Amino acid sequence: MPENPKGILYLVATPIGNLADLSFRAVAVLQGVDFIACEDTRHSRPLLERHGIIKPLAALHEHNEDTASKKLLDRLEKGESMALISDAGTPLINDPGFPLVRLAIELNLRVVPVPGACALVAALSASGLPTGRFAFEGFPPRTSSARRTLLQNLADNSGTLIFYESSHRVLEFLKDIASVFPPQRSIVIARELTKLHETFLRCKVEEAAILVESDPNMEKGEFVVLLEGAPQHNHNEELTSEQTRVLKLLLEECSVKTAASLTAKVTGARKELAYQAALKLADKRG
Ligand code: SAM
Repeated sequence: MPENPKGILYLVATPIGNLADLSFRAVAVLQGVDFIACEDTRHSRPLLERHGIIKPLAALHEHNEDTASKKLLDRLEKGESMALISDAGTPLINDPGFPLVRLAIELNLRVVPVPGACALVAALSASGLPTGRFAFEGFPPRTSSARRTLLQNLADNSGTLIFYESSHRVLEFLKDIASVFPPQRSIVIARELTKLHETFLRCKVEEAAILVESDPNMEKGEFVVLLEGAPQHNHNEELTSEQTRVLKLLLEECSVKTAASLTAKVTGARKELAYQAALKLADKRG
């Protein structure tokens, strides 16, 4: 029994494709609450009815979140309990519910998660990319220039990067990734998770757009895009003697920036490392 006499807000995860991915606990909670808030009642009713859950439904979507949240929580303060579900997966993960949860906490109501399917976690766990640290970036911006700026800002992040993307923008997004990230960085495109046509495309950044473009099926459905994080560098790392020799020669003829960039290209040295070394050498020369 809850310790809090007021109503409880349950956040219940629902399937992201395979309808069997609804936990026993989720069904029990949905059967036990007084009412259920969902994004689209027409979308959620069949899932609920399939599990014999016949409850009053309230709409909570991105267009009415602020006003609806207040009204729904008034009912909880009077002692009712509610469950929030979204169209698919875990509520609040790129889905409505954040204002509702924040307000519930302010009102000292109990907020209880009922975990289950979530596309980013499903994709990450099976991606084969490191799972110890990751950054979830949600949906990338809609314009290519904003996407590239975001990607440039993320390029040095050493954790796995995770994005949601829609079928009509995934190809453009992969092209933007190829224009910003090193060609040999690993990328995973997880499509239609838990569904009949579930696919994991694991390849290099330079191949991704070409592979997706060459398979008409790969531009259909729902997508999670995962990028390997940047390699972590040793802080004591130094240029080899050969790299330093090349850099010194180039510094006699060109600017710090050009000398560093050419050294990196010719010797394979890390660009940032070559630049720092060039700055030091230029400094010494006065
Ligand atoms: N709340 C959901 C969750 O927990 O993952 C996410 C909702 S967000 C509005 C929808 C996006 O999630 C889709 O555009 C897609 O990027 C991703 N997604 C949802 N279901 C998916 C699936 N079965 N396979 C791959 N991606 C999926």
